[in-house]
Amino acid sequence: MVADKSRRRFLEAAGAAALASGLASHTFAGGPQEKSGGASQKTPALRPFGFVIHGGAGTIERSRMTPEREKAYRDKLSEALRAGFEVLNRGGACLDAVVAAITLLEDSPLFNAGKGAVFTNAGTNELDSSIMDGRTLKAGAVAGLKRVKNPILLARLVMEQSPHVLMTGDGAEIFAQQKGVELVDPKYFYTEERWQQLQKAKDAEKSPPPKRSKLEREAFSLKADSAFDEHKFGTVGAVCLDKAGNLGAGTSTGGMTNKRFGRVGDSPIIGAGTYANNETCAVSCTGDGEYFIRTVVAHDVSAQMQYGGKPLAQAAESTLERVAKIGGTGGLIGIDRQGNFAMPFNTSGMYRGWIGPEGEPHVLIYRD
Ligand code: ASP
Repeated sequence: MVADKSRRRFLEAAGAAALASGLASHTFAGGPQEKSGGASQKTPALRPFGFVIHGGAGTIERSRMTPEREKAYRDKLSEALRAGFEVLNRGGACLDAVVAAITLLEDSPLFNAGKGAVFTNAGTNELDSSIMDGRTLKAGAVAGLKRVKNPILLARLVMEQSPHVLMTGDGAEIFAQQKGVELVDPKYFYTEERWQQLQKAKDAEKSPPPKRSKLEREAFSLKADSAFDEHKFGTVGAVCLDKAGNLGAGTSTGGMTNKRFGRVGDSPIIGAGTYANNETCAVSCTGDGEYFIRTVVAHDVSAQMQYGGKPLAQAAESTLERVAKIGGTGGLIGIDRQGNFAMPFNTSGMYRGWIGPEGEPHVLIYRD
């Protein structure tokens, strides 16, 4: 069993390590209970639990952040962590915590999910989301939503109340209507800041790009759309380990500024942007979706643990290296069944935070 003292010690260690590096490995609790085997746990209340969230990775630099803005991010991320904690602390299920935190972040204009989503090239908002249950390997996902206020709620309904995994566009919204999910006027998602980002992206497309090789041109055309300021990304995600020892993950996004023609990124793709398996880990990603799909990031982390016996932090880092190798940037959060968690990223910052049994939210933004 994990004594309170040892939990605290691990939590303190996690805090110190996290401050030192975005690539560090952390834990919510020591592992003695695992040695006796998960199935023999007769006192679930004493099990460790942990909750980790992200609010997107990108060019997030201290020098370009105002104190007010930084505080707003920290406050909202802390609120989301506390919402997850409330659920987990009373013995609630992993996915209830994931949904509680993500709906809060979707409702905040600070993040590229729900209200505050980025704009497509056509000036619309098209939202993607997914959720996965590590116990059953059930999953639900939605893509290209224009009127669903909280896409994560619909993703969960796809998982729990339909025989399908992924629903898109109008069909997904008919399903939403049938299930009584809140629909809003598309104007609800508008924020001036995101609108201006679209205008900047379009202006930049008009100015002639510098001479580049074919490879560079390909990489540039994917990145140009959103390479303009510190708010490059802003997708939100959550992963968790609950007191019953179950893992779960969820992700929600507006995608990438200036995306075209029904483009769908990694966030609603099970195995790419989101994955959870009680045998390994739960993962939620953020970054250049095309690269995360090609590297099948979330499942790759799990596979490295399952087939290669790697610890979570190593698996996460090596997967992210593969993303970088083909030109992708971003990050991920992951947690395993022992309560170890990792939050690697290869951008200058990633909004991220964690909360464990002691109930204290920890939020980080920059690399240092
Ligand atoms: N991965 C998301 C996408 O490509 C964007 C992000 O994480 O910021 O749609």
